[in-house]
Amino acid sequence: ENLVRFASVMNDLDAAAGRTGMGAVMGSKKLKAIAVRGKQRVSIADPAVFKEIARWIADNTPITNKGMHDFGTARVVAALDPAGGLPTRNFQLGSIEGANKIDGQAMLDTIFVKRRACFACPVQCKREVKVDKPYVVDPQYGGPEYETIAALGSDCGITDLPAIAKGNELCNAYGLDTISCGATIAFAMECFENGLLSTKDTGGIELRFGSTEAMLQMVEQIALRQGFGNTLAEGVARVAKKIGPAAEEYAMHIKGQELPMHEPRLKQGLGVGYAISPTGADHCQNIHDTVYTSIGPMLEMVYPIGILEPMAANDLSPAKIRLLKYYSEFMHFLNCAVCCYFVMALSFVGFERITQLVKAVTGWDTSLFELLKVGERAVNMARVFNLREGFTAKDDTMPERFFAPQPSGPLKVALDPRAFEEGKETYYEMMGWPNGVPTPGRLGELGIEWAASQLPSK
Ligand code: SF4
Repeated sequence: ENLVRFASVMNDLDAAAGRTGMGAVMGSKKLKAIAVRGKQRVSIADPAVFKEIARWIADNTPITNKGMHDFGTARVVAALDPAGGLPTRNFQLGSIEGANKIDGQAMLDTIFVKRRACFACPVQCKREVKVDKPYVVDPQYGGPEYETIAALGSDCGITDLPAIAKGNELCNAYGLDTISCGATIAFAMECFENGLLSTKDTGGIELRFGSTEAMLQMVEQIALRQGFGNTLAEGVARVAKKIGPAAEEYAMHIKGQELPMHEPRLKQGLGVGYAISPTGADHCQNIHDTVYTSIGPMLEMVYPIGILEPMAANDLSPAKIRLLKYYSEFMHFLNCAVCCYFVMALSFVGFERITQLVKAVTGWDTSLFELLKVGERAVNMARVFNLREGFTAKDDTMPERFFAPQPSGPLKVALDPRAFEEGKETYYEMMGWPNGVPTPGRLGELGIEWAASQLPSK
């Protein structure tokens, strides 16, 4: 009801459709909730094949995705920190002292109660946690995911797992996107430390990196739109404008969406993916370059779409951009089919089995080619929507910070401005988007020629 710009749509108490402020959209329409109840059974076109694939998924994915099963998404803290890929202090750095206090093992050893899962999911990546002091954390609200651990934790200079769990509980209880919430607080902390904000602005709060009290106070104030929280509830882009030009340097957002907790200096194809994504900085329709640097299950998974060779994480050649195009379209398809990426992609179900599954459930005699076209069509429709609403290729940007190396730590490379621009241009060329605009022919090839009428006239 408070129209926080990054309000989530919540499902139960611990699952959030968190990004892009869909909760605020519902709030602006005075739509409080959607309740669904059904009594009929879901009909399956081919129950025998469906059961066979469901059995394979149940038997295999807890093994193929054992890390996620055992440690939840928090497992990636231990992988990203030594590589300089754990966003720290508003993305100034990529690793933090004490990362081992907020990783998957630390959670298991301290606040973990049990695994939780979406309905019938064998991977069970979700956690239930309990904290009694110094904060009380109600297990019903679930445990922090990796994104939350980094956003409310390392990105705010914090390695206090109970405090992060408390922030997570508050965000879930109030319905806030933990990524944007943490990223906005981290941005304000950097502004405070550089004198752009003072205790006069923050109502007396010392908004410094590492302060768990400041982080928790701000989460609460943002949700209730109280005090300085009323300002931060507008998100990084709007607050930076309000503070003035000096704040732009610290504003980590693309198209108004705060960056998720993946470092584009480490994963450079993901950086291009952030820039061209229809929803701004987004890791859910993107590649994670570091898993394609050697032959392994993630690379083997994309063999059927013709990606055969390993690529360096900072490679932005046409081969990498081709991977970005194909793989992001696959992820758009998964979103359209309401399938979990952690199960279907990170558990190596495989394109062939996924195609069989769609056929078995829907009765549609389809192919991998058609499913990838679903994703490609979705990307193009979203692009046309954005163009109609006033976005242009000029909005496919990247914050300046990422074109300079981190001042210290293990990651020595930065995005190269020329390679980055060429990467974007290559993507436009592969998409059939001169100047970032889909051609009528491109839309026609996808069977959505009608969408050309939505494009702004030149
Ligand atoms: S469906 Fe996905 S998000 Fe839900 S528990 Fe399974 S792996 Fe986790």
